Amino acid sequence: MTTELTIAKAPEGLEGPGFFATKLDEVIGLARSNSIWPLPFATSCCGIEFMATMGSNYDLARFGSERMSFSPRQADLLIVAGTIAKKMGPVLRQVYLQMAEPRWVLSVGACASTGGIFDTYSVLQGIDKVIPVDVYVPGCPPRPEQILDGFMRIQELVRNEPVRRRNTSEYKALMQQYGIE
Ligand code: SF4
Repeated sequence: MTTELTIAKAPEGLEGPGFFATKLDEVIGLARSNSIWPLPFATSCCGIEFMATMGSNYDLARFGSERMSFSPRQADLLIVAGTIAKKMGPVLRQVYLQMAEPRWVLSVGACASTGGIFDTYSVLQGIDKVIPVDVYVPGCPPRPEQILDGFMRIQELVRNEPVRRRNTSEYKALMQQYGIE
């Protein structure tokens, strides 16, 4: 049996005999993007699709993310999959606030992204009403391939994010929109 391994692409840099020089941003981005620790906040059907994404067929572990974190303090990617009732909004927000920076958010499926088919008084019409979202995955439910695609877009963001982005005035302004200091 042969096993094909894909080695993560080296960052851009200067190479010569016995040395390789690159930017700190590139190295940190490479390491972070291939070791994301997700916290699944799954409430309904989309959560089942996420379970399939974690299973051996789709295997999120291939991306360095087999370690689910059910503690916000040891997670850097919040994956919200399912219908979020308005009553759960503050809980979701609290989980987000307990995560250390840098943190990212993946909204999986129509319900998490917009309320989906539940245009009712009790359902939050999109989690971006209470927390900032980095990537939205459409579908009701999205297939595991779509969730993987969303995850890979998060990886791209993580890989290319400058180390100091979280200290910028733009980022602080974004947080202030959500009442987060
Ligand atoms: S988007 Fe569809 S599949 Fe996903 S939680 Fe809502 S109703 Fe269920």
